Amino acid sequence: ALEARAVVHGFGELTVLHGVSLAVSPGEVVALLGPSGSGKSTLLHLLGGLDVPRGGEVWWAGERADTLGTQARSVRRAGRVGLIFQHHYLLEDLNVLQNVQVPGMLGALADGGRALALLERVGLGHRALDLPGVLSGGERQRVAVARALAARPAIVLADEPTGSLDRANAERVAELMLGLAREQGSGVLLVTHDEHLAAHADRTLHLLDGRMQEAVGMGAPTR
Ligand code: ATP
Ligand code: MG
Repeated sequence: ALEARAVVHGFGELTVLHGVSLAVSPGEVVALLGPSGSGKSTLLHLLGGLDVPRGGEVWWAGERADTLGTQARSVRRAGRVGLIFQHHYLLEDLNVLQNVQVPGMLGALADGGRALALLERVGLGHRALDLPGVLSGGERQRVAVARALAARPAIVLADEPTGSLDRANAERVAELMLGLAREQGSGVLLVTHDEHLAAHADRTLHLLDGRMQEAVGMGAPTR
Protein backbone atom coordinates (compact mmCIF):
# COMPACT_ATOMS: atom_id res chain seq x y z
CA ALA A 1 0.00 0.00 0.00
CA LEU A 2 0.87 3.64 -0.39
CA GLU A 3 0.62 5.51 2.89
CA ALA A 4 0.87 8.97 4.39
CA ARG A 5 1.32 8.99 8.15
CA ALA A 6 0.63 12.27 9.95
CA VAL A 7 2.16 14.24 7.08
CA VAL A 8 2.85 17.91 7.76
CA HIS A 9 4.00 20.22 5.00
CA GLY A 10 4.06 23.86 4.00
CA PHE A 11 5.79 26.58 2.06
CA GLY A 12 7.65 29.31 3.95
CA GLU A 13 5.44 30.49 6.78
CA LEU A 14 2.40 28.74 5.34
CA THR A 15 1.41 25.31 6.70
CA VAL A 16 -0.64 23.51 4.05
CA LEU A 17 -0.99 19.98 5.47
CA HIS A 18 -1.65 19.58 9.18
CA GLY A 19 -0.98 15.90 9.89
CA VAL A 20 -2.65 14.00 7.06
CA SER A 21 -2.90 10.20 7.09
CA LEU A 22 -4.24 7.96 4.35
CA ALA A 23 -3.58 4.58 2.77
CA VAL A 24 -4.39 3.31 -0.71
CA SER A 25 -4.14 -0.39 -1.56
CA PRO A 26 -3.41 -1.99 -4.93
CA GLY A 27 -6.67 -2.64 -6.77
CA GLU A 28 -8.77 0.10 -5.21
CA VAL A 29 -9.81 3.42 -6.71
CA VAL A 30 -9.92 6.28 -4.19
CA ALA A 31 -11.12 9.79 -5.02
CA LEU A 32 -9.53 12.69 -3.12
CA LEU A 33 -11.82 15.69 -3.11
CA GLY A 34 -11.57 19.12 -1.55
CA PRO A 35 -11.74 22.83 -2.32
CA SER A 36 -9.08 24.66 -4.28
CA GLY A 37 -6.09 25.33 -2.05
CA SER A 38 -6.94 22.57 0.44
CA GLY A 39 -3.60 20.83 -0.26
CA LYS A 40 -4.55 17.99 -2.64
CA SER A 41 -1.72 18.53 -5.14
CA THR A 42 0.76 19.13 -2.34
CA LEU A 43 -0.24 15.79 -0.80
CA LEU A 44 0.09 13.93 -4.13
CA HIS A 45 3.56 15.39 -4.69
CA LEU A 46 4.62 14.10 -1.29
CA LEU A 47 3.03 10.68 -1.81
CA GLY A 48 4.79 10.44 -5.18
CA GLY A 49 8.13 11.36 -3.66
CA LEU A 50 8.55 14.48 -5.78
CA ASP A 51 9.04 16.37 -2.55
CA VAL A 52 9.59 15.34 1.07
CA PRO A 53 7.33 16.41 3.94
CA ARG A 54 8.39 18.61 6.83
CA GLY A 55 6.89 16.11 9.23
CA GLY A 56 5.34 12.66 9.23
CA GLU A 57 6.14 9.73 6.97
CA VAL A 58 5.48 8.43 3.45
CA TRP A 59 5.53 4.66 2.87
CA TRP A 60 5.67 2.77 -0.44
CA ALA A 61 4.88 -0.96 -0.21
CA GLY A 62 6.20 -1.28 3.31
CA GLU A 63 9.26 0.86 2.65
CA ARG A 64 9.81 4.35 4.05
CA ALA A 65 10.10 6.71 1.03
CA ASP A 66 10.59 10.16 2.54
CA THR A 67 13.93 9.34 4.14
CA LEU A 68 15.47 8.21 0.83
CA GLY A 69 17.65 10.63 -1.13
CA THR A 70 16.31 12.17 -4.35
CA GLN A 71 18.11 9.68 -6.60
CA ALA A 72 17.12 6.62 -4.59
CA ARG A 73 13.52 7.85 -4.51
CA SER A 74 13.27 8.06 -8.29
CA VAL A 75 14.77 4.59 -8.68
CA ARG A 76 12.45 3.09 -6.04
CA ARG A 77 9.40 4.84 -7.51
CA ALA A 78 9.33 2.57 -10.61
CA GLY A 79 6.89 -0.26 -10.01
CA ARG A 80 5.56 1.41 -6.88
CA VAL A 81 4.09 4.74 -7.92
CA GLY A 82 2.91 6.05 -11.30
CA LEU A 83 2.18 9.75 -11.76
CA ILE A 84 -0.34 11.55 -13.97
CA PHE A 85 -0.90 15.29 -13.71
CA GLN A 86 -3.28 17.71 -15.36
CA HIS A 87 -0.48 19.32 -17.28
CA HIS A 88 1.38 16.30 -18.56
CA TYR A 89 5.04 16.81 -17.95
CA LEU A 90 6.20 14.83 -20.94
CA LEU A 91 9.87 15.14 -21.83
CA GLU A 92 9.76 17.24 -24.97
CA ASP A 93 13.13 16.11 -26.38
CA LEU A 94 12.23 12.42 -26.25
CA ASN A 95 9.80 10.78 -28.64
CA VAL A 96 6.47 9.36 -27.51
CA LEU A 97 7.79 5.80 -27.16
CA GLN A 98 10.79 6.94 -25.12
CA ASN A 99 8.48 8.93 -22.85
CA VAL A 100 6.56 5.75 -22.04
CA GLN A 101 9.82 3.91 -21.37
CA VAL A 102 11.15 6.56 -18.99
CA PRO A 103 10.01 5.01 -15.71
CA GLY A 104 11.55 1.77 -16.95
CA MET A 105 14.86 3.45 -17.76
CA LEU A 106 15.01 4.65 -14.18
CA GLY A 107 13.86 1.40 -12.63
CA ALA A 108 14.97 -1.29 -15.12
CA LEU A 109 11.38 -2.28 -15.94
CA ALA A 110 9.11 -1.75 -18.97
CA ASP A 111 10.87 -2.96 -22.07
CA GLY A 112 10.25 -1.38 -25.47
CA GLY A 113 7.76 -4.03 -26.54
CA ARG A 114 5.54 -3.36 -23.55
CA ALA A 115 5.83 0.39 -24.07
CA LEU A 116 4.70 0.04 -27.69
CA ALA A 117 1.86 -2.30 -26.72
CA LEU A 118 0.67 0.28 -24.20
CA LEU A 119 0.85 3.03 -26.81
CA GLU A 120 -1.24 0.90 -29.15
CA ARG A 121 -3.68 0.30 -26.34
CA VAL A 122 -4.18 4.06 -25.87
CA GLY A 123 -4.56 4.48 -29.64
CA LEU A 124 -1.17 6.07 -30.29
CA GLY A 125 0.96 3.29 -31.72
CA HIS A 126 1.32 5.29 -34.94
CA ARG A 127 2.70 8.24 -32.95
CA ALA A 128 5.51 6.31 -31.26
CA LEU A 129 8.31 8.13 -33.03
CA ASP A 130 6.82 11.63 -32.91
CA LEU A 131 7.86 14.27 -30.42
CA PRO A 132 5.21 15.18 -27.80
CA GLY A 133 5.08 18.73 -29.15
CA VAL A 134 3.02 17.69 -32.18
CA LEU A 135 0.32 15.91 -30.14
CA SER A 136 -3.06 17.28 -29.08
CA GLY A 137 -3.90 17.74 -25.39
CA GLY A 138 -5.94 14.52 -25.30
CA GLU A 139 -3.18 12.57 -27.05
CA ARG A 140 -0.55 13.91 -24.65
CA GLN A 141 -2.67 12.84 -21.71
CA ARG A 142 -3.03 9.34 -23.19
CA VAL A 143 0.77 9.17 -23.41
CA ALA A 144 0.90 10.22 -19.76
CA VAL A 145 -1.50 7.38 -18.90
CA ALA A 146 0.62 4.83 -20.79
CA ARG A 147 3.75 6.10 -19.08
CA ALA A 148 2.24 6.09 -15.59
CA LEU A 149 1.19 2.46 -15.99
CA ALA A 150 4.25 1.21 -17.89
CA ALA A 151 6.15 -0.12 -14.89
CA ARG A 152 2.99 -1.75 -13.44
CA PRO A 153 2.99 0.49 -10.38
CA ALA A 154 1.22 -0.67 -7.24
CA ILE A 155 -0.52 2.73 -7.10
CA VAL A 156 -1.20 5.46 -9.68
CA LEU A 157 -1.46 9.03 -8.41
CA ALA A 158 -3.57 11.13 -10.75
CA ASP A 159 -4.01 14.87 -10.16
CA GLU A 160 -6.92 16.14 -12.25
CA PRO A 161 -5.90 13.89 -15.13
CA THR A 162 -8.86 15.01 -17.21
CA GLY A 163 -8.92 18.61 -16.00
CA SER A 164 -7.76 20.22 -19.23
CA LEU A 165 -9.80 18.02 -21.61
CA ASP A 166 -13.24 18.26 -23.19
CA ARG A 167 -15.86 15.70 -22.16
CA ALA A 168 -15.20 13.17 -24.92
CA ASN A 169 -11.43 13.21 -24.37
CA ALA A 170 -11.86 13.22 -20.60
CA GLU A 171 -13.97 10.09 -20.78
CA ARG A 172 -11.51 8.33 -23.05
CA VAL A 173 -8.55 9.16 -20.80
CA ALA A 174 -10.47 8.14 -17.66
CA GLU A 175 -11.60 4.87 -19.21
CA LEU A 176 -8.06 3.99 -20.30
CA MET A 177 -6.52 4.92 -16.97
CA LEU A 178 -9.06 3.04 -14.85
CA GLY A 179 -9.27 0.10 -17.26
CA LEU A 180 -5.50 -0.43 -17.41
CA ALA A 181 -5.15 0.04 -13.66
CA ARG A 182 -7.87 -2.52 -12.97
CA GLU A 183 -6.38 -5.07 -15.41
CA GLN A 184 -2.97 -5.00 -13.82
CA GLY A 185 -4.21 -4.61 -10.26
CA SER A 186 -2.87 -1.09 -9.69
CA GLY A 187 -4.63 1.11 -7.16
CA VAL A 188 -5.54 4.67 -8.12
CA LEU A 189 -5.62 7.80 -5.97
CA LEU A 190 -7.47 10.35 -8.00
CA VAL A 191 -7.88 14.09 -7.45
CA THR A 192 -10.73 15.38 -9.54
CA HIS A 193 -13.41 18.03 -9.74
CA ASP A 194 -15.16 15.87 -12.34
CA GLU A 195 -18.12 14.12 -10.76
CA HIS A 196 -18.36 11.61 -13.62
CA LEU A 197 -14.83 10.52 -12.83
CA ALA A 198 -15.29 10.60 -9.03
CA ALA A 199 -18.29 8.28 -9.45
CA HIS A 200 -15.84 5.49 -10.43
CA ALA A 201 -14.18 5.53 -7.01
CA ASP A 202 -14.59 2.70 -4.49
CA ARG A 203 -14.31 5.29 -1.72
CA THR A 204 -13.91 9.02 -1.35
CA LEU A 205 -11.68 11.11 0.91
CA HIS A 206 -12.23 14.78 1.67
CA LEU A 207 -9.42 17.20 2.40
CA LEU A 208 -10.38 20.52 3.97
CA ASP A 209 -7.80 23.16 4.91
CA GLY A 210 -5.06 20.54 5.02
CA ARG A 211 -6.96 18.12 7.26
CA MET A 212 -8.63 14.86 6.28
CA GLN A 213 -12.33 15.01 7.07
CA GLU A 214 -14.18 12.18 8.75
CA ALA A 215 -16.38 10.24 6.33
CA VAL A 216 -19.97 11.49 6.41
CA GLY A 217 -23.14 10.11 4.88
CA MET A 218 -23.39 6.76 3.16
CA GLY A 219 -21.03 4.12 4.37
CA ALA A 220 -19.72 6.16 7.27
CA PRO A 221 -18.56 4.05 10.20
CA THR A 222 -20.92 4.27 13.17
CA ARG A 223 -19.40 4.59 16.61
P1 ATP B 1 -6.51 23.07 -6.56
O1 ATP B 1 -7.80 22.30 -6.40
O2 ATP B 1 -6.75 24.49 -6.91
O3 ATP B 1 -5.54 22.39 -7.48
P2 ATP B 1 -5.03 22.04 -4.26
O4 ATP B 1 -5.93 21.46 -3.23
O5 ATP B 1 -4.33 21.13 -5.19
O6 ATP B 1 -5.86 23.14 -5.08
P3 ATP B 1 -2.37 22.89 -3.50
O7 ATP B 1 -1.86 23.13 -4.87
O8 ATP B 1 -1.90 21.69 -2.78
O9 ATP B 1 -3.96 22.94 -3.47
O10 ATP B 1 -2.01 24.18 -2.65
C1 ATP B 1 -2.29 24.27 -1.26
C2 ATP B 1 -1.78 25.60 -0.77
O11 ATP B 1 -0.36 25.61 -0.87
C3 ATP B 1 -2.25 26.83 -1.54
O12 ATP B 1 -2.48 27.86 -0.63
C4 ATP B 1 -1.09 27.12 -2.45
O13 ATP B 1 -1.06 28.50 -2.75
C5 ATP B 1 0.09 26.72 -1.62
N1 ATP B 1 1.23 26.26 -2.44
C6 ATP B 1 1.24 25.16 -3.22
N2 ATP B 1 2.44 24.99 -3.81
C7 ATP B 1 3.22 26.03 -3.38
C8 ATP B 1 4.58 26.43 -3.62
N3 ATP B 1 5.38 25.71 -4.41
N4 ATP B 1 5.01 27.54 -3.01
C9 ATP B 1 4.20 28.25 -2.19
N5 ATP B 1 2.92 27.94 -1.92
C10 ATP B 1 2.43 26.84 -2.51
MG1 MG C 1 -4.22 20.96 -7.26
